[in-house]
Amino acid sequence: MSVKAIKRIRPEVRAIDGYHLVAYDCAVKLNQNESPFDVPPHVKDRILARIRNLQWSRYPEPMPQDLVQAAASYVGFAPEQVMVANGSNSIIQHILNAIVAPGVSVAIPSPSFSLYGQFTEILGGTPIYVGLDESFGYDTVALNEAAASGVSAVIICSPNNPTGCDISNDDLAVLLEATDALVVVDEAYAEFNDHSALDLLSAHDNLIILKTLSKAFGAAAIRIGCLIAHPDIVDEIHKIKLPFDINLFSRVAAIELLSDREQIEQNVAYVVEERDRVFDQLSGIRGITAYPSKANLILFEVEDPGSVFEQLAEKGVLIRNVSGYPGLANGLRTCIGTREENDAFLSALESIMELA
Ligand code: PMP
Repeated sequence: MSVKAIKRIRPEVRAIDGYHLVAYDCAVKLNQNESPFDVPPHVKDRILARIRNLQWSRYPEPMPQDLVQAAASYVGFAPEQVMVANGSNSIIQHILNAIVAPGVSVAIPSPSFSLYGQFTEILGGTPIYVGLDESFGYDTVALNEAAASGVSAVIICSPNNPTGCDISNDDLAVLLEATDALVVVDEAYAEFNDHSALDLLSAHDNLIILKTLSKAFGAAAIRIGCLIAHPDIVDEIHKIKLPFDINLFSRVAAIELLSDREQIEQNVAYVVEERDRVFDQLSGIRGITAYPSKANLILFEVEDPGSVFEQLAEKGVLIRNVSGYPGLANGLRTCIGTREENDAFLSALESIMELA
């Protein structure tokens, strides 16, 4: 028997599947595009000492200015152009809350990060999915057309999860010119790329850029992301964000992490070098087609992704089975770990593919 009041939940909510992550107990964890480098113990000690001395009984500031300042200096823009929130996931939700209602459409490349379409649908809006080209790169012609078709927003993940493709600033500038829609560029993985849309922000007031501390900064657990946009856009999105969403612990940790950029740059250089090595080796394995990536993840295709995924998990290597994504029926995605983790992944995969 179903719960009596379930019909009171909006049909848009009941219709979607939600975000699921099945738990696997694997020693090598390459399934969530995280950093293989934890925050170093001496930095954790510094953070803990600061938190110890602060007052926990008071609400934090609705928008902690010291953290906004730290994020603003990281991206090189004024604090008025920056909003910090509890993870970039929630910023995506805030932006869509500010834009989407029934009758409103949002252009979203596909396949890409699934939350963009999911939140759009929950709010009663219509995602207009724009396919990638045959090598899983952005189809800029189709994107420009969609952007100019009356949509309220375009959301481009660059570099893209799960394909690793990106959009160049030249192509993005053309798109920004061609539309009065808000163009959201999710740069969760941009530290691993050679360019950022931040360079276009001063010239384009319809551009919103998202950043996170969950990937290159190695701090997915602290849940801090930020948005960079024209101050008037920032002011509007601010109205949607809950006050006090950033807790004291995350605020202090984020400020410390944003101040230690040398370490982050070293970690990123390591991951980028490993990404290119893993890509070369993957490409040499019989039965595998790997796609070049600008992020800390690599998409590859095999004949039977479900079986390869399970066999890897049995060998203690957890990656992501993305074969359920549109257009990725043969797709698997790994992310870049330490050299040892990547070698464990590659040798497990080689032995599986030899037997296939
Ligand atoms: N954007 C993209 C493209 C992602 O892949 C992810 C995490 N998988 C996020 C945003 C979420 O980041 P956060 O941890 O800041 O919520």
